[in-house]
Amino acid sequence: MSKHLYAVIGLGRFGASICKELAREGMEVLAIDSDEEKVNEYKDIASHAVIADSTDEFALKDLGIRNIDHVIVAIGDNIHASILTTLILKELGIDMITVKAQNDYHEKVLNKIGADEVVHPERDMGKRIAHSIISSNILDYLELSDEHSVVEVKAGEKMDGKTLIDLDIRARFGCNVVAIKRDDDINVSPMADDVIYAGDVIIVIGADQDIHRFEKSLV
Ligand code: ATP
Ligand code: ATP
Ligand code: CA
Repeated sequence: MSKHLYAVIGLGRFGASICKELAREGMEVLAIDSDEEKVNEYKDIASHAVIADSTDEFALKDLGIRNIDHVIVAIGDNIHASILTTLILKELGIDMITVKAQNDYHEKVLNKIGADEVVHPERDMGKRIAHSIISSNILDYLELSDEHSVVEVKAGEKMDGKTLIDLDIRARFGCNVVAIKRDDDINVSPMADDVIYAGDVIIVIGADQDIHRFEKSLV
């Protein structure tokens, strides 16, 4: 099997970070930007770095974009260019297209024209950080849908030495504890009589309002 090929279009902070991480992981990555300076910066980091305007279908074809398995469109401010680029990639038959959305309308358009994955890093990171600001024991937060999330919380005194039965989380809050992490150990199928200690990290899944009630009374 041949190696998976990636391309990142747009080397702003977001695209550049994806590009660096893919390269660091040993992936084959083509970096594309219309700005010569940006491209020069990535010459030694990406496998290849080329200057091209991604809204130009022929330019994309010329650089062999059709051989790429997964293209990440990380053009930010220029929503028009981001949409047009996505459309062209779709028409060229790229298997997997991930696009960074700038706002909710942009996201809707991208979904309609067939982007395989739409990401919204500023909005999502903002939400996660807001949760960790509200409580320093909320370590991470992942949105599953508009109404459901997974949160990672650090157990404090209120949970110390208690079993899942004692805490009665499912009955009281309608949330499920899916894992308990203690140092390097992770228990992914916690039993009702498993004990939680202060400092453990517990991962809870549920409806946002239920998780909120859980956080208020136990975290
Ligand atoms: P950041 O991730 O830093 O927040 P941003 O969201 O502000 O980035 P921009 O700086 O607007 O995004 O765009 C990222 C990059 O995309 C820039 O380096 C820009 O030159 C490049 N870019 C914009 N339009 C095109 C295009 N049509 N073709 C290729 N690259 C483009
Ligand atoms: P994004 O998170 O959207 O990528 P950004 O990193 O590109 O944002 P800017 O757009 O430069 O950041 O700034 C974000 C906001 O901060 C803007 O609304 C701007 O008006 C505001 N801002 C910048 N400087 C100041 C300041 N000195 N005092 C108050 N607000 C400021
Ligand atoms: Ca930005």
